[in-house]
Amino acid sequence: MSGRDLVAGIDIGGTNVKAGIVDLATNEVLASCDFPTIRDSEQAFLESLAAAVAQLSAQADAPRAAGISIGSYVFSDGSIDGMSSFVPFLTHGYPLAERIGGALGLPVRVDNDARLICLAEARDGAGQGFSRVLTLTLGTGIGVGLCEDGRPFGGEPFIHLAGHVKVRTGGEYPCLDTEPCYCGMEGCFESTCSGTSLQVYVHDRLGADVSNKEMFERAAEGDPAAAEIADWFLDMLARALNQYVYLYCPDVIVIGGGVAKGLERYESDLNDRLVAEVYEGQRTVVRITDLKEDSGILGAASLFA
Ligand SMILES: [Zn+2]
Repeated sequence: MSGRDLVAGIDIGGTNVKAGIVDLATNEVLASCDFPTIRDSEQAFLESLAAAVAQLSAQADAPRAAGISIGSYVFSDGSIDGMSSFVPFLTHGYPLAERIGGALGLPVRVDNDARLICLAEARDGAGQGFSRVLTLTLGTGIGVGLCEDGRPFGGEPFIHLAGHVKVRTGGEYPCLDTEPCYCGMEGCFESTCSGTSLQVYVHDRLGADVSNKEMFERAAEGDPAAAEIADWFLDMLARALNQYVYLYCPDVIVIGGGVAKGLERYESDLNDRLVAEVYEGQRTVVRITDLKEDSGILGAASLFA
């Protein structure tokens, strides 16, 4: 078929890899798959990526290149700072673009996952129509992305760890503050509002069988204990949002990640709690993501758009 521009998008997480063939002409995922991240052998890891792309190529057609998304600092030569706490051989300086390029026999570009999610939101998601887009991904940790007019802010992903701004003193909640965060602080945004931290807090307050999603559902139904937690969470989240307005002056802040599913009904509440303005009349809007599951694949493929 004419007009098709096929690129593989591969989103490498510590637990799972999502891969797909994307038609950049239509921004459509033609075929996709996901599989566990192989952690015990570099060779087997690279072979698993090659096998996935070969299988997807048989379903869609062969891609001309592959874009890679990974939750690590990425240097401009395609090497990474590493994520050895999840995948032992992905250590500091690992030449990810070169090794995957060799395994796939394709040109490869790599970027940080939070930055690519930001690009995807700006292009196809809740950030559409805004110039300066900040994204917060509330998942295992908190990933921060910033782009301006559809381009990543800065040559290298230097703000993806900006989820460690301080939102409280620390020590108020024994379940959250058993030890300082790896950023050196207690009471940072990530150690309060990541999906992982919220889950710890919810388990402590409501019992070990209550998920974050269920807590938000109970709060919506009027359960007082759950409503108190939801209100606490929105307060902590708003403390960070107000700081991000002063730090980055975004036109929109898009909240994504696993926690976002529970936040949809609070979008206007969060906008009410966002009181910071850089100058009189400046207004940052808060949106909850509406990107679909395959946004990681689309973001990775967009490196060749
Ligand atoms: Zn921290």
